[in-house]
Amino acid sequence: MADQFKRFDMKAPPVRQRNYLRPLLWALTIPNVILKGTKITKQGCDGLKPPYLLLCNHNAFYDFSVATKAIFPARANYVVAIDGFIGREWLLRNVGGICKRKFTNDIQLIRQIRQVFKNGDVLILYPEARYSLCGTTAVLPDSLGKLCRSMGVPVVTLICHGHHLQSPFWNLKKRKVRGLCAEMKLLYTPEQLKETPVDEINRTIREAFVYDDFAWQKENGIRITEKFRAEGLHRVLYQCPACGREYRMASAGTEIFCKACGKRWQMTELGTLEAVSGETEFSHIPDWYEWQRANVRREVEEGTYFWSGPCHVNSLPNARRYIPLGDGVLTHSMEGFEVHGEGSYGPYEMKLSARELYSCHIEYNYLGKFGDCVDLNTLQDTFYTYPHGEDFSVTKMALATEELYYHYHPEKIR
Ligand SMILES: [Zn+2]
Repeated sequence: MADQFKRFDMKAPPVRQRNYLRPLLWALTIPNVILKGTKITKQGCDGLKPPYLLLCNHNAFYDFSVATKAIFPARANYVVAIDGFIGREWLLRNVGGICKRKFTNDIQLIRQIRQVFKNGDVLILYPEARYSLCGTTAVLPDSLGKLCRSMGVPVVTLICHGHHLQSPFWNLKKRKVRGLCAEMKLLYTPEQLKETPVDEINRTIREAFVYDDFAWQKENGIRITEKFRAEGLHRVLYQCPACGREYRMASAGTEIFCKACGKRWQMTELGTLEAVSGETEFSHIPDWYEWQRANVRREVEEGTYFWSGPCHVNSLPNARRYIPLGDGVLTHSMEGFEVHGEGSYGPYEMKLSARELYSCHIEYNYLGKFGDCVDLNTLQDTFYTYPHGEDFSVTKMALATEELYYHYHPEKIR
């Protein structure tokens, strides 16, 4: 696939939110936050004025509405992934969107961020760079501490609770969740940043980002009564803790079950799991998820981690439309990702080294019709890679990406 497609302009300077669009932006977001009764508490934010950096956790589109209300009436720019720009590039740029391809080291972005602060605005960053898979913190990049230190503006966090429960990544269908809340907290003043080593900044940010929506649900006794509440959960919980089989989990109604051994678990109104018969291996969903991670880590440590199979690939060189590159082969091994194939635009290939990729983005049933995919990025292109069949889990590939990175970089803090 030579350069027959126009590439997205990643270097475009950030646009200051157009004045005429700001009331529209407020009208589309703030009343909804008030209507839902989302409570935003602030700590250390008296007298806080832009420019500042706002680091937010990421669980749903609603995060963006809460952030808009939290910083009101300040002007902001947002770092947005390229697929968010499809078909609405003009609008996104003019409400302050800065485009980035996920999990790439983009030096250009640093320059754009600096410009935002020079403009005197707020930069809203979702450093997890993806929606959390099961309502707990996703990996944060090590580059964050250095970024904070070099910008010389206050660093503020905004941690929302309950957004994953309301519209979980594994099934976006909305549930009624009362008591949503968010905490906005000044983490560092510019003076404090100067005196703090980068490692310590990273540690402090990690501590501030610890959250667990399912624990929060239980602590607050929040009941989710929707009858479809477990549907889709098998996309995250892909391995059966009873028989150990992978890729045979399924879900329906309020239950998740294993098609290999037949064991079933009920998802309660409080978001816990209970085995319909026999032992409950994990009542807390994130514990099941972390057990799967530990199993993947073992494969990585033994050097046996490997998956390969046929796939379909769509490319996104610009924000206009997906280009179907055709069928190919995806391999994820100890070396990283490799995808290659040949389609109507000629041969194509992408290789991403496990040593350089600290995490990756995945999608469950992308856009409601395309199935599960791994989203692989270089600075110039994005491949949406859809494995065929049922003997795979993009969740496992995401976990393996992270575990491989830590395997090759044991010095990195988690
Ligand atoms: Zn089983």
